[in-house]
Amino acid sequence: MISTDERVEGRDYPSSAAVDLAAIRHNLGVLRAAAPGALQLATVKANAYGHGLLPVARAALDGGADWLGVAQLAEAFTLRRGLDEAAVARADAPILAWISTSSSDFAAAIEADIDLSVSWTWVLADICAAAREAGRPARVHVKIDTGMSRAGSTLADLPALASALRMAADDGLVDVVGAWSHMSRADDPSEAGNASTASHVRIFEEGLAILADAGVTPRIRHLSATSGILWHREAHYDMVRAGIGLYGLSPDPAVATSEQLGLTPALELSAPLTSVKVIEEGTPASYGGTWVAPTRRWIGLVPLGYGDGILRAASNQARVVVHTAFGPFNAPLIGRVCMDQFMVDLGPAEGSPGTPTARSGQAPAIPGDIATLFGSGISGEALADDWAQAADTINYEIVTHLGAHIPRIYRDGADATFGSNS
Ligand SMILES: *Cc1c(COP(=O)(O)O)cnc(C)c1O
Repeated sequence: MISTDERVEGRDYPSSAAVDLAAIRHNLGVLRAAAPGALQLATVKANAYGHGLLPVARAALDGGADWLGVAQLAEAFTLRRGLDEAAVARADAPILAWISTSSSDFAAAIEADIDLSVSWTWVLADICAAAREAGRPARVHVKIDTGMSRAGSTLADLPALASALRMAADDGLVDVVGAWSHMSRADDPSEAGNASTASHVRIFEEGLAILADAGVTPRIRHLSATSGILWHREAHYDMVRAGIGLYGLSPDPAVATSEQLGLTPALELSAPLTSVKVIEEGTPASYGGTWVAPTRRWIGLVPLGYGDGILRAASNQARVVVHTAFGPFNAPLIGRVCMDQFMVDLGPAEGSPGTPTARSGQAPAIPGDIATLFGSGISGEALADDWAQAADTINYEIVTHLGAHIPRIYRDGADATFGSNS
């Protein structure tokens, strides 16, 4: 749990997210062991899945990551600037950014040594123009659509793209560093899921053959994200791109939990209770009165809401652990999640017939006691997985939705031993 001392001083957001960088390095080790022959690209898009772009990128590099990957070019620029300022050599921190448009600043990307993904000949033309301007080749990874129908060249379009790449390479305008794709069902152990993954691999192979026929020979082939790393050895190729696993979460807890995978969730979200009070039996809580006190009740107020990324779909569904002078206990989230706050049930108050009182006449918690929404699970707190289940979504959405304004506290190690049974 985050101690009061650790809370960021001088900030007016009472909540905080503690990120354990040792857990990030540990998780990277687990993923490296799962794909021992492959280079590791640490996926740090979306503010490193809400964990903080630069601290996570640096921890990943310290932990042996060979590459960094982001979606947006803007993130890549921020990342490169931060690494330059930290005197991290560019050769030790190649960055791949996979989203661009014709209005992207490709010249700046070339200047910043950012590798670009290429799916379409018209983007390649823009990249070549920028390379001509910059006076040096752009580093590109050709993307093949292997069945997700997102970015990537279909096999039908690939021969034209391949010959354009070959010409651009011959003209010294591009260096085709990689060939890559992304799979849509690598976390799905069903027969249909496995058939989908086999098809992705087959189409990837066909795409590589088309590139080879055109004389395009990428040095790094990459196809797998976390689920491919964990569950599809045949799809590892030369590099893998870990995302969710790096943060200690399972790509699908229904297939294997983070604990079963030996991963340690790196982020712990908590906030101090801003109010503790008694409400009478029959009193509704929050908008719409969807929860009504079944007895006279102690309720607490947590200063986090959907404006901070706490999904409203978790209304009446999730729980927090409240850390009190008497020890920690579970408190269910009651009523609807508001924009900036939600309420929790701290238990029956004195005078409730037929229910044990939390402590005779005394509040079970006091304002300032810390409520932990989710974390590594080591102190009995919920996991991001539990909040995902409560909100009928995936753990990815729970962590990436966390507002960037919530103070992040970076730790290194301390008590993060949960899940290190790999
Ligand atoms: C997000 C993403 C990843 C990482 O996926 P995880 O499931 O989080 O491991 C890898 N590659 C691409 C292209 C992505 O968009």
